[in-house]
Amino acid sequence: MADSTKTLVCPACGKEMEKIYIERTKCFIDICTNGCGGIFFDNREFKKFDEDHEAIDEIKNALEGKEFKHVDASYKRICPVCGMKMMKNSTSIKGEIIIDECYGCGGKFLDYGELDKIRAEYKTEEERSKAVIDYLKANMGSEFEEMHSHKLNQKNANKKGILNNIINKFF
Ligand SMILES: [Zn+2]
Ligand SMILES: [Zn+2]
Repeated sequence: MADSTKTLVCPACGKEMEKIYIERTKCFIDICTNGCGGIFFDNREFKKFDEDHEAIDEIKNALEGKEFKHVDASYKRICPVCGMKMMKNSTSIKGEIIIDECYGCGGKFLDYGELDKIRAEYKTEEERSKAVIDYLKANMGSEFEEMHSHKLNQKNANKKGILNNIINKFF
């Protein structure tokens, strides 16, 4: 999806968000610099910022030295791009960090501080994915090995759907 050019209203605190241009990725990220410090990523943008080695200088600069309004992260939020209700999802199999995701446009909203936590969670995308595989192996054992190698029969088709959902989400 192309960068949205309209000014977004922060889904957490209602303030207008500021567009910050990121040189490295040639895209704009919407940051709630005058409200809660939340960050909105358009579809796919987030993947370019979630690993520790991926520079986020512009985002850091935009947030640095400011006091932000505290918001209740448990409230349901409405996507500022397409107006759909956002879903609360964990960013990894650990389930410790919950962010808001829009299934309509693929946008993601992170509360202040969550980006740093996510970047500290795993060093690379491979590690994040491996954690899912390890978790599934540990909990499903040989059944998982079977599915993973596509030796799946009809009676497991439903489970395969669930597994695929998990894999698609984290990979
Ligand atoms: Zn805000
Ligand atoms: Zn949306």
